[in-house]
Amino acid sequence: MATSHRPFKIFWNENFKHIVFVNNDPIVFLDMDGVLADFFGAFSNFAKVKHWKDLGPSELMQTMDAIIGSDFFGTIPKTWCCDELISMVTGFSGSYSILSSPLEGDEENCAYWKKVWIQNNLNPGPSDIFIDRDKGKYALYQNKSNILIDDRPHNIKAWENEGGIAIRFQANQDQLGVIEEVFKSIKKNRLNGVN
Ligand SMILES: [Mg+2]
Repeated sequence: MATSHRPFKIFWNENFKHIVFVNNDPIVFLDMDGVLADFFGAFSNFAKVKHWKDLGPSELMQTMDAIIGSDFFGTIPKTWCCDELISMVTGFSGSYSILSSPLEGDEENCAYWKKVWIQNNLNPGPSDIFIDRDKGKYALYQNKSNILIDDRPHNIKAWENEGGIAIRFQANQDQLGVIEEVFKSIKKNRLNGVN
């Protein structure tokens, strides 16, 4: 049966456009190393030292070289807060994406093993995975003022400079309350119609 003369077909198309247009909820981008994955602990174990700072410059270089081409990024343990953080973020926005820098000189291999890690460790999994060291360009991704949770001050600064909301969080020194507070104030602003 031909449906092209039905007026409600147009109505539904228009309505759908409207729904897409008003979805301005920010995307929460999560960093991996130092936030979800215990990179520094794994790195120290790999180098067989108590703390990575115990390594001299040449030992540090040797360890990095040994990681290149290996499955290291697929074997890192989760941080103490990984699961709780994922459930906190999905509770706040329903979903999240991953934004993680690749190791220099190991881009393709590192991205592969990071995706394996995500598959093995994160539930629910992310909507999107970006393995990219230029993080600032995602601050306004899809024309929203997005949220970044990351441990590196350099990334926080780049994100804020581009107009996003950045939360500095380092699993081995911070509590999840740092993130919860920001989520609460965003929700409050939204209810008050500020955002
Ligand atoms: Mg990091």
